Amino acid sequence: MSIRSSVAPDIVSADPTSLSTASAILRRGGVLVLSGAGLSTESGIPDYRGPSGAYSRNHTPITYQLFRDDPRGRHRYWARSYIGWPFMRDKKPNVGHLSVAAWESAGLLTGVITQNVDSLHHKAGSSSVIDLHGRLDTVMCMACGLRGSRDALQSRISSQNSDWEGVAKSFNPDGDVEVADAAVDSFEMVDCSSCGGPLKPDVVYFGESVPPARVSDSYAQVDAASSLLVLGSSLHVYSGRRFVTHAHKLGLPIVIINQGETKADDLATVRIDAPLGATLASLSDMSCCWPTDQPN
Ligand SMILES: [Zn+2]
Repeated sequence: MSIRSSVAPDIVSADPTSLSTASAILRRGGVLVLSGAGLSTESGIPDYRGPSGAYSRNHTPITYQLFRDDPRGRHRYWARSYIGWPFMRDKKPNVGHLSVAAWESAGLLTGVITQNVDSLHHKAGSSSVIDLHGRLDTVMCMACGLRGSRDALQSRISSQNSDWEGVAKSFNPDGDVEVADAAVDSFEMVDCSSCGGPLKPDVVYFGESVPPARVSDSYAQVDAASSLLVLGSSLHVYSGRRFVTHAHKLGLPIVIINQGETKADDLATVRIDAPLGATLASLSDMSCCWPTDQPN
């Protein structure tokens, strides 16, 4: 199925004047994209996860301190993650991510800063991406800092748990799972292959700071941009909002496309409150190019 046929034009509910102003800004080029959870909901990833990306269904995201200091909680996280990971790993970019990739190919973007940890910009073919809050497809050792792929870890866990019968107590389409206590008890987690330290997903948890180099790279991206386009973020978290404030101080045009209010609506040159996928497909069509399926 082509991307075009998957988007019904009649569901584009964005105000035409706002859309054409946004298109004019996009066509000028030099655009920096700042994306958030709202861009990935149409890929089946609910946005209640927040920037931690932790598998949290109860609106209380795991904090870094809890993950670090509570071995039992960490063990439970990995038992759930072991079952849920294949579903998260197989999520596909939607027309919104594909639009952003098409704009980069057309030479209109300076880059993407994403608050998402799902790697969907990368899967869509975007190459200039700062993963502000890290990536779930990477793991790191909390003791020595060694990083590795989540898939490689999955294989190691699988070898260690060949007889494990941990079945999900409840299972949701987004890969979030509940695992019975007895199954958590019998699950065997593996540690860092280099130093034996505990592992964590390479994402920035609540209570944890974004690495300073990543923050300064992001500010440099704003400094180099001609405009800022915010996609699918309510900007409630300072971690992302500071770049909008900085762009405003520099006098850059700011376009915000998000369903629902944002914390920076008063800074926006153009504000579009509409579903992301159809709106971005429409914006692509007006501006440069129709998004195509990811290259691989
Ligand atoms: Zn280590």
